Amino acid sequence: MATNKLVVLGSINADHILNLEQFPRPGETVIGKNYTVAFGGKGANQAVAAGRSGANIDFVACVGEDDIGQRIRKQLAADNIGVGSVEASPGTTTGVALIFVNRDGENVIAIDPGANAALTPDYLARYEKKIIDASVLLMQLESPLETVIAAAKLAKLHQTQVILNPAPARELPDPLLALVDTITPNETEAERLTGVAINDDASAARAAQILHGKGIPTVLITLGSRGVWLSRQGHGKLIPGFKVDAVDTIAAGDTFNGALVTALLEGEDMDKAVRFAHAAAAIAVTRSGAQPSIPWRQEIDAFLQ
Ligand code: ADP
Repeated sequence: MATNKLVVLGSINADHILNLEQFPRPGETVIGKNYTVAFGGKGANQAVAAGRSGANIDFVACVGEDDIGQRIRKQLAADNIGVGSVEASPGTTTGVALIFVNRDGENVIAIDPGANAALTPDYLARYEKKIIDASVLLMQLESPLETVIAAAKLAKLHQTQVILNPAPARELPDPLLALVDTITPNETEAERLTGVAINDDASAARAAQILHGKGIPTVLITLGSRGVWLSRQGHGKLIPGFKVDAVDTIAAGDTFNGALVTALLEGEDMDKAVRFAHAAAAIAVTRSGAQPSIPWRQEIDAFLQ
């Protein structure tokens, strides 16, 4: 249906981050520093990027029956997000990511999906109308795959555009890919989906062709600081990003996706929407953390002036 409404369906995590000199070996205890809890999860990050950049958005997600779940829900509402469809799932804890960062800036991450596993097709069924009434549905892959498939089918049936950020990287069934209007993998995710290692424009174009062959009209492969490879109707081109001093690229892709959708819903053409998303993501990489780094609309507009 043609409204300007966005639905994001996806994950919510509390990221527990600890800085270490070196990762511990099995059986070893090490002392860390700068322990922080930041709100994350790809679904929530993308919802925040869309909300702060000005989209009219509802988020379909689950938190646990715990204090942090309530705090996250409040914060999402403050980020301009409709949270009527973010429920506390009985008997669950909010999803957590335990993140160690070493002195070289490398990280190791372990996740307990917790309440994210309660985002089942039955849960989705309670909020079908939101997807039916929306113009765009944005999803990632930190939610049960059967729910992602059910939501994509519903969207397709009601002319709601399906945008899939296929992260984290995994293979996907062809029937799901055939329901997707726009896909936004990074290089690793594109390689996982197509078997093509992306190292230049030609390989990006080859991977995009394979994704077109699965029935996806628009392919956007994000290439980190290089920008994105945009491919549609058999025609591909590089749209370079902005040059900034990157501090940490956590949530770069999430910010890109959320801001991209905001611009598309405002009626911008794809080139302009990508430029807007590049600006939002460029600002995000100049700051640390996931959600703390995601910019508000005024900052993006100022950056683009
Ligand atoms: P992901 O975070 O999913 O791995 P990418 O690393 O491909 O995704 O980055 C997504 C987008 O974020 C890029 O297309 C670009 O707009 C922006 N970006 C990422 N890294 C940088 C950087 N170092 N400088 C400027 N923009 C960046």
